[in-house]
Amino acid sequence: MTRVTVIPGDGIGPEITQAMTEIVEVSGVKLEWDYVYAGLKVYEETGELLPESVFESLEANKVAIKGPMTTPIGKGFRSANVALRKRYDLYSNIRPIYRYGKTPAIFGDLDLVLFRENTEDLYAGVEEQISEHEMHSIKIITRESSERIIRKAFAYAQQTGRRKVAVVTKANIMKLTDGLFLDIGREVAADYPDIQLQEVLVDNMAMQLVMNPKQFEVIVTENLYGDILSDLMAGLIGGLGLVPGANIGEDMAIFEAVHGTAPDIAGMNKANPTALTLSACMMLDYLGEAEAAKLIRQALDEVLSDEEHFTADLGGTLSTTDFTKKVIAAVERLK
Ligand code: ATP
Ligand code: MG
Repeated sequence: MTRVTVIPGDGIGPEITQAMTEIVEVSGVKLEWDYVYAGLKVYEETGELLPESVFESLEANKVAIKGPMTTPIGKGFRSANVALRKRYDLYSNIRPIYRYGKTPAIFGDLDLVLFRENTEDLYAGVEEQISEHEMHSIKIITRESSERIIRKAFAYAQQTGRRKVAVVTKANIMKLTDGLFLDIGREVAADYPDIQLQEVLVDNMAMQLVMNPKQFEVIVTENLYGDILSDLMAGLIGGLGLVPGANIGEDMAIFEAVHGTAPDIAGMNKANPTALTLSACMMLDYLGEAEAAKLIRQALDEVLSDEEHFTADLGGTLSTTDFTKKVIAAVERLK
């Protein structure tokens, strides 16, 4: 049986993880959940954000699904989320922005996929204090990391019958770093004559996405721009409760929702488990369990087609557990 590392995480993490595992189990797929604990709660108990047991489990299983983890603000703490992506070189962050059912979406149905470079840029955390009043943060962009994510985006576009890839930078200002990323975008595009390269500056992208998002199909960008744009894009299809993500490297993958720990609603049985459940669907596809993934997506589409089934983030009244029951019933009906 395939063993999968499960990291419930902080905030709403444990609630949505419970919901996600229940839904995956009724789909009939046989997985063994290997629970390990990391994040702020573990830090308070053990003094470590990422205990050794997490690395052991990840290195043994090579595939994981995780809830969000709190990064304490201030000195000395690196994000545990970022640390995992870096440690295992999970360089592709893939975030599909697809509207399920009738979720509140200003442009109606939408189908975009964001590829975000996941290991460098300002996220590399190379910062230094020059004086009490001056801090520097170094932006790192390399050919190797840029080329591999851009190639993933183009290959994905081709495999899925898409016709365009937008390469998003601020190359007019950051001529060396973003200039390199854009140059590589052009080089890779030359290998894909059937796919149109859209060169878009990130500020313009922010505007285009809220005015006319349907002009885009696949978007590839650096780490920080991808972070910001993916929250914006989540807003186009009903919010952060709905958008899944995958962090994929050469021989390991960690699946997680785009959203954070949602401290404002943690422990209140209000969180929307859709984003983490869709992340599990991406994991099932990765594991070759496409049938189960399809079944769960269909069930979510059906449940989210009725406003009566919405959780609070979508303007509804259903709790996490009641929403989960609806999804489980739909999976059983569709099976
Ligand atoms: P973090 O620092 O961990 O990212 P945050 O304060 O940025 O935490 P997010 O988790 O990013 O919080 O959430 C931003 C907003 O979206 C919050 O108001 C939160 O309640 C809401 N939200 C995020 N995820 C969900 C979800 N799964 N269900 C319902 N609401 C959510
Ligand atoms: Mg956040």
